[in-house]
Amino acid sequence: MKIERISVYQVDLPLHEGSYKWSGGKSVDVFDSTLVCVETNTGLTGWGEVCPLGPAYLPAYAGGCRAGLQELAPHLLGLNPLHLEQLNRNMDAILKGHPSVKSPVDIACWDILGQASGQPVCSLLGGRYEDDFVLYRAISQEAPDAMADRVQQYREEGYRRFQLKVGGDPDIDIERIRAVSAKLEPGDKLVADANTGWLMHEAMRVVRAVQDIDVYIEQPCFSYEECLAVQRRCNHPFVFDEVIDSMNMILRGNADLAMDVVNIKISKFGGLTRAKQARDLCASLGIGMTIEDSWGGDVTTAAISHLAHSTPTELLFTSTDFNSYVTVSTAEGAPQRQHGRMSASEAPGLGINPYREVLGDPVFEVSS
Ligand code: MG
Repeated sequence: MKIERISVYQVDLPLHEGSYKWSGGKSVDVFDSTLVCVETNTGLTGWGEVCPLGPAYLPAYAGGCRAGLQELAPHLLGLNPLHLEQLNRNMDAILKGHPSVKSPVDIACWDILGQASGQPVCSLLGGRYEDDFVLYRAISQEAPDAMADRVQQYREEGYRRFQLKVGGDPDIDIERIRAVSAKLEPGDKLVADANTGWLMHEAMRVVRAVQDIDVYIEQPCFSYEECLAVQRRCNHPFVFDEVIDSMNMILRGNADLAMDVVNIKISKFGGLTRAKQARDLCASLGIGMTIEDSWGGDVTTAAISHLAHSTPTELLFTSTDFNSYVTVSTAEGAPQRQHGRMSASEAPGLGINPYREVLGDPVFEVSS
């Protein structure tokens, strides 16, 4: 089998809530997503998606993903999409770094591998644990009372895990954590995600002020070293996110006894092939995981669902359903949240079929 054509589409994803806000005043109103279609000489076609959380979250931005694809795609024509390790080594040889550029291509090739073998991607990624898996709901940064009010609404939608966007003024963040935790019921879990927004002394003030509250602290500071300094002096379970982007960082965090939970974002690792490696390493080390991506619509959510559903239940801390945050559906067959939970499609591949009329014409395509 050979890759014969690669087409790249751009699609805007507005939010039901109007905007999504997190640390340092950062926000996004409309997500700029990129869908990639990989066509083969056998007639099989696969789809992938990459959607950065704006340009200021990770070292990735939407226009850069498309520029990178323009550089990368011509070199992939003629390669076998089923040979995923080989394909990834090829992509690394063609373009150094830029995992977010490679991620949608890799995801599309898993979609093709699934269709070629008649298996849902989750089976190929390791299996299917239980009937469904657990989701979290991010609570966009607002005033403390407004964030607390969201908990009831989200619980009615079935969510029991809440990720509070903090990383602002530490005194207000303390109020945010207190206000939201007062709304929790037995069985709920609360994560305070600072998204690198605090300095170490600010993080220490917050964790000390909420010592009596059952809350996970996520990525308080910018660097790994700063986060580690906070983690070593706090009693809360800890989540690493932005700084964990490689096997080496997972191993380092594990050696430092710092890894209670880690967020595996598919595009941060460069696709499902590398995210699976990271997932399997964490599983072997007993590290809990949130399986997700930076953002996305139906195709990203489908990819997440296959990786999450093939992750052992006790190791899956939580996962996400980005397609329920956005107003535009880009694909038929995408997984849908039910009672705060989700399951991967049982159809071969990712189990999705994009709506061409929503995608419009490709931004560019290359073919052999
Ligand atoms: Mg996070």
